[in-house]
Amino acid sequence: KPTIAVVGRPNVGKSTLFNRIIGERKAIVEDTPGVTRDRLYASGDWLNHEFNVIDTGGIEIKDEPFQEQIKMQAEIAILEADVILMITNGREGVTEDDLFVARILQKSKKPVVLAVNKIDNFEMRNEIYEFYNLGLGDPFPVSGSHGLGLGDVLDQAVEHFKSLEEEVEADDSIRVSLIGRPNVGKSSLVNAILGEERVIVSDIAGTTRDAIDTEYFYDDEHYTLVDTAGMRKRGKVYEATEKYSVLRANRAIERSDVVLVVLNGEEGIIEQDKRIAGLAHEAGRAVIIVVNKWDAVEKDDKTMKKFEDKIRREFQFLDYAPITFVSALNKSRLATLFPLIKLANDSHKKRVQSSTLNEVLVDSVSMNPTPTDKGRRLNIFYGTQVSVAPPTFVLFVNDVDLMHFSYRRYLENQMRKAFDFTGTPIHILSRKRN
Ligand code: GDP
Repeated sequence: KPTIAVVGRPNVGKSTLFNRIIGERKAIVEDTPGVTRDRLYASGDWLNHEFNVIDTGGIEIKDEPFQEQIKMQAEIAILEADVILMITNGREGVTEDDLFVARILQKSKKPVVLAVNKIDNFEMRNEIYEFYNLGLGDPFPVSGSHGLGLGDVLDQAVEHFKSLEEEVEADDSIRVSLIGRPNVGKSSLVNAILGEERVIVSDIAGTTRDAIDTEYFYDDEHYTLVDTAGMRKRGKVYEATEKYSVLRANRAIERSDVVLVVLNGEEGIIEQDKRIAGLAHEAGRAVIIVVNKWDAVEKDDKTMKKFEDKIRREFQFLDYAPITFVSALNKSRLATLFPLIKLANDSHKKRVQSSTLNEVLVDSVSMNPTPTDKGRRLNIFYGTQVSVAPPTFVLFVNDVDLMHFSYRRYLENQMRKAFDFTGTPIHILSRKRN
């Protein structure tokens, strides 16, 4: 999905427009405890195009001067978005700060859509012309409070990401990203992985993207490491802020098939690791847990097992994710990663035959009868796989309320035994059959 970033100085109405764009959205299917959903990053759609929206205004670093803040927001937008939506205030006209932001945006090659907000009625339309001075193309009049003009703005944004969508469709590689809190060794791992592979095809320079991804081949399989440029750019203050790292992780997850959740073996697991891992799980991606810096850990023959047990306890929602221990520094055990990525990706895209699936369901029910409630028994008529990535199944039943969590969990385990779903979440939904 392409990403739109909303930028602009305070009080131009960014949040109102952001909320208008994303509309009212229901929470996702399942909730992972400990994961707070941040409104900085949301999804929207327009004319059958789905996209993500970032509100850069929500990212603040304390104690930085005002101009530094808006500069940072513009930089994040350039780094993270495919299309930038710059919002200005038609009632105030062009300000110094608008010019400042516009100059930063101009230097990037990113497409910008310029919206002039607070144009609440037709008479005010003349106010938009001075915004041509920003050098960002045609200004679009909008009214966040009245909900006017947004259609034209989104039309324009969609025009910009059409070419991007074609690129993504043409991409048949396995897209892999690395997420984790700062300093766990993501950049080092990226470099180690790419150093391992002599056959790096290229940094992909997309039509509307910077060279942010890197392709490589391993065992005749085509991979794309997502977001490698972001990993190479280092040292900015804001990269250490929690909100930014969450946004960055979300963005990488969104663009990948397989997510490597990187932990620091030396420091162990902290709350932030769980939050980041929760994002990958909620997005329904294939997940591998990678414990890095294993060289720095003093160990005996039980250390690995102990660490594994700890991960299983702390990340119960990721019980399907394989775990591997590596050292980016010594480049040791990296070879364990590649087969796991392939395996997880295969699981994520696996399709099972309806006949086999239903045999498994019948066997499961005969081994462990369905629950009853007030004398009524759950009856599963049949099941079918409705989609992949992640594999999603619909079970047709007599009454969805009778499908208790624990029984669904049992069926999931049975299905995991019958088909190899290592590395991928699977979703099991129930529907009433009339
Ligand atoms: P990132 O913020 O997750 O991208 O982390 P970096 O790749 O920048 O690594 C953070 C620090 O950890 C650097 O000083 C690295 O040299 C160090 N580091 C990375 N991988 C390893 C490893 O496998 N072992 C050890 N001992 N240090 C590592």
